Amino acid sequence: MLSALMTLASSALVAADPPRPWVGLHLLAPGDPTVFAQIKDLVDKGLKPLGFNTLILEFSSDNFQYQSVPELKPFVGGIGRKEARDLAAFCRRRGIRLIPQLNCVGHQSWAQTTFGLLRAFPELDETPGQFPNNEGIYCRSWCTSNPKSYEIVFKLIDELLEAFQAEAFHVGMDEVFLIGHESCPRCRGKDPGELFANAVNRLHAHLKSRKATMLMWGDRLLDGRATGYGEWEAATNGTHTAIDRIPKDIVVCDWHYETRQSYPSLEIFQQKGFRVWPSGWRNEAATEAFLEDSRRKTSPGMMGHLFTTWGGTPEQLLAAMTAPDSASKPSGAGDWWSVGRLARKFAPIVAKDPAFGAKR
Ligand SMILES: [Zn+2]
Repeated sequence: MLSALMTLASSALVAADPPRPWVGLHLLAPGDPTVFAQIKDLVDKGLKPLGFNTLILEFSSDNFQYQSVPELKPFVGGIGRKEARDLAAFCRRRGIRLIPQLNCVGHQSWAQTTFGLLRAFPELDETPGQFPNNEGIYCRSWCTSNPKSYEIVFKLIDELLEAFQAEAFHVGMDEVFLIGHESCPRCRGKDPGELFANAVNRLHAHLKSRKATMLMWGDRLLDGRATGYGEWEAATNGTHTAIDRIPKDIVVCDWHYETRQSYPSLEIFQQKGFRVWPSGWRNEAATEAFLEDSRRKTSPGMMGHLFTTWGGTPEQLLAAMTAPDSASKPSGAGDWWSVGRLARKFAPIVAKDPAFGAKR
């Protein structure tokens, strides 16, 4: 009887220790070091009590003090290795995995501002000399066929990996519209799916050599027409065929911000063998629908939920996460309020839900 009880107890112990859900916050790294310093409070008083265990910090080529590429002249200064190392240790002590991000290929500009990488190396631009003041385009891209693109980007990735002592890295790669462009002598006429897969594979091989897990946004890997997602949440520019040409150990951050009955990408990525990390934003009904569908479509690759923010200081996000349930939206508050409230409501649920936690 005693041994039977002990067997039960030990199997209960095993059953009580399943893979943990990934509960993450995606944050744009502030360029101002004093604002950056607010992240510790956000971690301590917001993320940890709500059950978060992962923080993704998105950097550009303009808001980190990169040392390995002297040609880069960051606009806004940003933090350096010392602050990065300090925050990473702080997070680690609280059980929060910190994953740095650098947008690769796309998102090399925003509105009229071209970011540091293409200011310093205009020859890496996929559309060199085209679209003055970035008019008529969404964002600039770097050329996926130029070996020098990788030579420089790998240095930046290595610096962020080393500074944060990170075991995983997010390469962005969302919303790439300029790829295989007619104005690029190296890419003109080539298959966008092949070009995109080449970039994914080069980045993956580099991260693998650094023993780091690769994360990326999933939209360019989805067929916007077949899935019904359209050209933003998925691709209508031919990059989607890359999905069958890249390694399966990539964690795909599958972002969708609108309310739908079903999110077919959740099955698509898992059936292909990827781990999928559903990623939502400011809309409560959409987040609820996405979470519900994620629960229904749990298979060994379902990780949990990633809350994206896209604005707001760490201090504002913390205020929204910690205000009492009865609090109403302060006048003039931006999306950061909704994002903080969603985190407060749903993160503790995701953290405890046995449906989540990738088993591979
Ligand atoms: Zn090119």
